[in-house]
Amino acid sequence: MSAKLIRGTEIRDEILKEIKGEVDRIKEEHGVVPGLVTILVGENPASVSYVTSKIRTAQSLGYKEVQDSQPEDIKEEDLLSLIDKYNKDDSIHGILVQLPLPKQIDEKKVLNTIDPDKDVDGFHPVNVGRLMIGGGEVKFPPCTPAGIQELIVRSGVETEGAEVVVVGRSNIVGKPIANILLQKAPGANATVTVAHTRTKDLAYHCKRADILVVAAGVPGLVKPEWIKPGACVIDVGVNRVGEKISEKTGKKIAILKGDVDFDKAKEIAGYITPVPGGVGPMTITMLMKNTLNSLKFHLGIA
Ligand code: NAP
Repeated sequence: MSAKLIRGTEIRDEILKEIKGEVDRIKEEHGVVPGLVTILVGENPASVSYVTSKIRTAQSLGYKEVQDSQPEDIKEEDLLSLIDKYNKDDSIHGILVQLPLPKQIDEKKVLNTIDPDKDVDGFHPVNVGRLMIGGGEVKFPPCTPAGIQELIVRSGVETEGAEVVVVGRSNIVGKPIANILLQKAPGANATVTVAHTRTKDLAYHCKRADILVVAAGVPGLVKPEWIKPGACVIDVGVNRVGEKISEKTGKKIAILKGDVDFDKAKEIAGYITPVPGGVGPMTITMLMKNTLNSLKFHLGIA
């Protein structure tokens, strides 16, 4: 293997340690801790598992963590009033509503009801606009793209002047990571191209990328011969391609593959993220960082 493996699990641990240090210091100096509420509607198993990880991480960092579970048939107006209650609660700095929501609820209305200054997921239109403006305006960059930037920067990959190609233009990954990396700021200042299903020659664009971020959700979409030798390859894709029995638990687990043919790509790239264990661990980590930053904004010490 020639590429350096970018291990999301190691970078996650490094960032969580930094966050814990700051939480302890702020608690000592200001007598407060970050407060995060996770609102879970219904019992979708994937959502339950994701929310459980968020709660565990928040608790391990010493956050005030409120888990608010609501029934599947909650009325939209009741959910909106609940969010409003947390908007007004000074001990809560981050509000997270786990998606997807049941059919009777308008997701957009729910996300737009969260106070933009507590929107630690960064999905409220105000925070999307703040990211677009850039500089000091940015409060809560969306968690997965913010995590991707950390992976790149902490691995020592130069972004300034780099040709970045992002495959995918979703609102949660493609567009925000493109936006983050083109900011006039350290860890950014890149020249960014965004490709999608209507892009005429995807191979051509991938081949000229110094940093290639692939977030398409198509297993093996990026062929090894499309990778520029020495490039940094960030594979965001998480695709379930089968099942296997876990050696640890003896239970059935999903076989996950990325959007890049990892085994061949690692012989050409300079840096590469594995799937799983690359981008995945960064999302909750950056949610914790956004919640800490929300408290710091609140205290005027950001
Ligand atoms: P999405 O909303 O489905 O968007 C996929 C994007 O990829 C679209 O813009 C689409 O283009 C583009 N695309 C699809 N097939 C393509 C092709 N053959 N050639 C070029 N472009 C193509 O997906 P998403 O939510 O951004 O997620 C992308 C992947 O990342 C998924 O596998 C998801 O599971 C994973 N993910 C991982 C994390 C994490 O690890 N924490 C977080 C979020 C997402 P059009 O716009 O033209 O349709």
